Amino acid sequence: MNRTLTCIICPRGCTLQAEINDGSVCITGNACPRGQSYGESECLHPMRTVTAAVRVANRHGRALSVKTRDPIPKEHIFDLMEVVRRLTVKAPVAIGDVICDNIYGTQVIATGSVE
Ligand code: SF4
Repeated sequence: MNRTLTCIICPRGCTLQAEINDGSVCITGNACPRGQSYGESECLHPMRTVTAAVRVANRHGRALSVKTRDPIPKEHIFDLMEVVRRLTVKAPVAIGDVICDNIYGTQVIATGSVE
């Protein structure tokens, strides 16, 4: 199977060609080694940083932007979003506060603040 990817590691955005055979990946089009590892990871075990918003219980109508501290496996995104959808926080919240700990090997943290 062949795939065409855009490397997102730096602004150059190299177009990568990935040839996947029996669990191994051959990457071409990368201008540096980081594109090789990005292409392999994207084909074999894609990861994503997830952003979302949670309700602020004591500030009617307010939402707090959050994200996962680290990328998580792409196949867990919808499960994580289901957990995040049910979360509420209480103000005050500061940027970087942990909103949910130990979820898919990382944390959900605040990317905004609410006084
Ligand atoms: S392959 Fe290297 S130079 Fe090209 S976009 Fe990726 S990180 Fe940047």
